[in-house]
Amino acid sequence: MQEASKKEAQRIGYAMVGGLIIGLIIHSMGQASYVEYIKPLGTIFIRLLKMVIVPLVFSSIYMSMINLGTPEALGSMGRKAVSYYFVTTVIAVFFGLVFVNIINPGIGTSLGTAGLNGLSSEMASKVTEQKGLYQTILSVLIDAIPTNPAGSLSDANILQIIVFAIFMGIVALYTKDKATPINNIMGALEEMTLKLTHVIMRFAPIGIFVLMMDVMAKSGTTAIVSLSKYILTVIVGLTCHAIFLMFVASARLKKSPMYILKGVSAPLLTAFSTSSSAATLPITMTAVEENLGVRKDTAKFVLPLGATINMDGTALYESVAAIFIAQAYGIDLGIGQQVVIFMTASLAAIGAAAIPGAGLITMSIVLGAVGLPLEGIGLILAVDRLLDMFRTTVNVFGDAVGTIVVDSFLTNDEVHKS
Ligand code: ASP
Repeated sequence: MQEASKKEAQRIGYAMVGGLIIGLIIHSMGQASYVEYIKPLGTIFIRLLKMVIVPLVFSSIYMSMINLGTPEALGSMGRKAVSYYFVTTVIAVFFGLVFVNIINPGIGTSLGTAGLNGLSSEMASKVTEQKGLYQTILSVLIDAIPTNPAGSLSDANILQIIVFAIFMGIVALYTKDKATPINNIMGALEEMTLKLTHVIMRFAPIGIFVLMMDVMAKSGTTAIVSLSKYILTVIVGLTCHAIFLMFVASARLKKSPMYILKGVSAPLLTAFSTSSSAATLPITMTAVEENLGVRKDTAKFVLPLGATINMDGTALYESVAAIFIAQAYGIDLGIGQQVVIFMTASLAAIGAAAIPGAGLITMSIVLGAVGLPLEGIGLILAVDRLLDMFRTTVNVFGDAVGTIVVDSFLTNDEVHKS
């Protein structure tokens, strides 16, 4: 790991801990409103990160196609990536179900706060606009095809941008010399957005300090105490899954788990503070390439795809939350219904957007599949922001490890060393 990256990760770490402590102090003094004055610095940081996502995803997917040279090479990489996403998501949900059945966090929970009143009206309407499992899978597939690529770019619809970039990349391979001007522009755009990411990263300690302080100053400690068993179940499950991923990465990269953790510490801390895999993507991209030596073309293709559809943390969280709600309502779920939760939680995570709170919206798919009351979401709402930080960190870690694993399974012929 380069010395500069090490220092950068350290600075981000200090900023996070500092923001956490000061936020807690402000919370204990009951002065959360003061944070509003500096909160814009956190908002600016997230907006800066979002600013690079669209050009970065489009240019890097396109350029990875050009460098790979054939649609077959892309197919091979894509198959390996999707297999990894599938296997690890299933393992994540398994961890969630094991721990929630051992700890039983919902038994004896009061239903006092159940209801959708705490949700914003926009969120409540998304939660209640329930789709079945088949409809959900179908709509993810159909919605992935852009009808207007310019609209996809302007709406920052990452999945549609990926699909469009893949199509453009494939035809560019067949158009050969005629595509050279566009290839040059894309290559330049990619270089520029990566450079821009480095510039934005200088601002990361301030942004992360403010974001952490804001969350801590406003977090309701009463909810944390009353839902402590639930929080514990989610965190224990996520930790086990993260340890599992760390060993997988360590085995494939033949480096110590500590080496891996240090290499991705900047994206993990950013994910924790922003609760957004998408906003963290530019940082994850530079970290796996520069610190862990993942080949550029693998990172450029596998990471944007992973940030969009691979969410181990969210899948685990949704399985725990569904069982917790069932337990709180005194509903006994048999093994058959737990299997349905197993499947729907894995799929609902694919459909969740890489933004804060998205997992809570797709929860309705899981609850609906086993006939649990949607109002149960109200029970977990108060601690969702907190748990979002943890699950997003695992989502991003899963994406980074996925890139390491896929890269390790590709020969030099399959991917250019760029
Ligand atoms: N915030 C998560 C992410 O961006 C998604 C979720 O809400 O679970 O990865």
